[in-house]
Amino acid sequence: MAHTGDTPARPTVTILVPMFNEEAVLQLFYDELNRVIEQIPHIDFVYLFVDDGSRDASLSIVKNFAVNDARVHYLALSRNFGKERALLAGFDHVVTDAVVVIDADLQDPPALIAEMVDLWQQGYQDVYAQRRSRRGETWLKRATSNAYYRVLQSVTRVEIQANTGDFRLLDRACLDALARFRESERNMKALFSWIGFKKQAILFDREPRAAGKSKFNYWRLTNLAVDGITSFTTAPLRVSGFFGFLVSIVAFVYLLVTVIHALLFGSDAAGYPSLMAVILFLGGVQLMSLGVIGEYVGRIFNETKDRPNYLIGESNLPHEADHDGTPGRNGH
Ligand code: UDP
Ligand code: MG
Repeated sequence: MAHTGDTPARPTVTILVPMFNEEAVLQLFYDELNRVIEQIPHIDFVYLFVDDGSRDASLSIVKNFAVNDARVHYLALSRNFGKERALLAGFDHVVTDAVVVIDADLQDPPALIAEMVDLWQQGYQDVYAQRRSRRGETWLKRATSNAYYRVLQSVTRVEIQANTGDFRLLDRACLDALARFRESERNMKALFSWIGFKKQAILFDREPRAAGKSKFNYWRLTNLAVDGITSFTTAPLRVSGFFGFLVSIVAFVYLLVTVIHALLFGSDAAGYPSLMAVILFLGGVQLMSLGVIGEYVGRIFNETKDRPNYLIGESNLPHEADHDGTPGRNGH
């Protein structure tokens, strides 16, 4: 932010809140946030609510906040684009020295912001909140999430922060770095890890949602997980290649065995079941490999269309971003 006059510049931080149908919890969240922010008087805070196409009263609630509170800004996307793109839209419009990304449902306790800001002022550039426990989440969700992190870490050289969501403070350097990633297949967690910079974890207990329902069911989470892997690494392509190679070798050995067996002992034309088994197995392997290739081809297709990542419906921001959601027009 530009500062004039000879008073020393106060650090500025944006609180970025993606929201989608959060009317049940917004007032509670806003009150709690205000309470926390009051305890950090040496920083100038602004709030940026990104409304991700809510179909309930979320946006009008935030507009009401803005009437009495000049710190409150909102950016309403033209429809629901998903949390990843809502975050991108927010990042594109942050003009402060740092940003704190936080969910609206109070699962990310605003009280941690003070600690994040402290660490930032000590020189850390990406202060992320790591879950010590996940109360209110099912055993299955915890187990699948653990397994997922392990698989992801084993296929990439980039260091993955396990048990970490989007709740974090990012400084200007991280923001500028993230702004250069205009890919349309977005996975924020992958990008946060990829950019590097001086990272520091703080531990917290994740509470159950204060009100309202989670927007992520298993189907959405599975898709997010696949996106995470394919946006990180092409390892699955290689795995299917290796697997094909392995199967070919086994098939070749089996071929030799059958031929030699037939030469020595004659052929009794039996073996229909084993033949069927091999054909079905190979068919399955081929279909799977095609599927993996298809995933990446699909991604190339989406990427080459070069569509905007989001569209803005309305906003009370005083400044326009130097780029909209369009990949090619990012001014970098
Ligand atoms: N969210 C969003 N767009 C979506 C889905 C969710 O902006 O399409 C927001 C949501 O309002 C919340 C945050 O992302 O502030 C996390 O969503 P949620 O609490 O449903 O996810 P969970 O905590 O269950 O992973
Ligand atoms: Mg939540």
